[in-house]
Amino acid sequence: MKHKATTLGSGFFIIFTILAVYLFGLHQGQMGQGLLTVPDAMAAQTKAPASPVKSLTQRAVYYPGSEDLAPDEMRVIACGTGMPNARPKQAAACWLVELGNGDKFIFDIGSGSAERLSALKIPYDYLDKVFIGHLHSDHFGALSDLWIGGVIGNRIKPLRVWGPSGDKPELGTKYALEHMEKMFTWDSASRLGNVDIRGQVLEVHEFDYKAVNQVIYNENDVTIRTIPAIHALDGPVSFILEWNGLKFAFSSDTFPNKWWLEHTKGVDIAIHECFITPGDLIKKQKWTPGAALNVGTQIHTSPAQFGKVMSQIKPRLAVGYHFFNDYDTQPNVLEQVRKTYDGPLALATDYMVFNITKKDITVRMAAIDEDIWPQPAVSKKLPPDPSKRIGFSDFIYGGRVNYKEVVDEIYSDINKQYGTNIPAPQ
Ligand SMILES: [Zn+2]
Ligand SMILES: [Zn+2]
Repeated sequence: MKHKATTLGSGFFIIFTILAVYLFGLHQGQMGQGLLTVPDAMAAQTKAPASPVKSLTQRAVYYPGSEDLAPDEMRVIACGTGMPNARPKQAAACWLVELGNGDKFIFDIGSGSAERLSALKIPYDYLDKVFIGHLHSDHFGALSDLWIGGVIGNRIKPLRVWGPSGDKPELGTKYALEHMEKMFTWDSASRLGNVDIRGQVLEVHEFDYKAVNQVIYNENDVTIRTIPAIHALDGPVSFILEWNGLKFAFSSDTFPNKWWLEHTKGVDIAIHECFITPGDLIKKQKWTPGAALNVGTQIHTSPAQFGKVMSQIKPRLAVGYHFFNDYDTQPNVLEQVRKTYDGPLALATDYMVFNITKKDITVRMAAIDEDIWPQPAVSKKLPPDPSKRIGFSDFIYGGRVNYKEVVDEIYSDINKQYGTNIPAPQ
């Protein structure tokens, strides 16, 4: 106690002395004489730290496009953690997995998530592999944005999509994507001869939703397996990705089930749905108690059920998602999870970033640039072939007002600037 008091006393003395010397110096400085008599040690104490001109060695934020991935490292980014109803803060389900070998995989691509993917500043040629857990709009509603938007954003490789079959052919991924292509018939036709459309090819891999721990992807030392999930109707699945001794598991949507418990034990990162509490479904979402209980505990996994699941599989990090993660909902989710699980946990929101190695797992948030533009294509783009254009009917074409002198000048300026010789249409 005495020692403490002494330390405190000498601390006061030093501060007082520094202050006195500072004030004295200030006074002297004002007089134009400077401060000449301070001992070296004291001078060091009075010196303010230099203004930083170098980047910090440690950053608590992830700035997309600014960090190398180590050869043995996995980076997982939450690009959608919300619910089917749209909101600015959280898109619906979408997770990007980036591996140290350069491979990238998208798991689910729910409504609103394409803009999150774009914010990561990755050329679209590398965002060409999508794994869909089930065909709810909050798990694949932004696929058309990535498919078509990716073409406009310079993707020239086909988009590859893996997804489950259904109980009947029309409940499967193949049927859904064939009809998505049909839905965009006008869109695709309109782009012929106007842009490089090689990225418009869709490569669909439908697999059996009842397959248990079956490999559906095996390239470049990356293995992705599927297990059945239990959610709303037959058809949903969960995924397990393995690479370089690291294991990532993603539930998409599921009620707790035996396949997940058996095949995701001890994974490095387990991303599992953890729905909003039934209480908040009633209060915030304005649902009836009956609907809230059914959807919140039977169609989805409630936070307390999520906790049970994680207690059994014991991942290095448990990640809960699929709820509106706000100041007044997270405490309720957390309270319920902690009733049944006391291990490592993150309750995800959009742009949460996980860096995983065998040694460490770090969790940060990304700081994104909202003024985003697409990155260039990875290989050379083909110029549009005007002969492929479908063109207009005489009736519509006849309605054009050309402003020839204005358009001629635009063509001439661009031709001069880029050394091209593209004739202005007459
Ligand atoms: Zn769902
Ligand atoms: Zn969902």
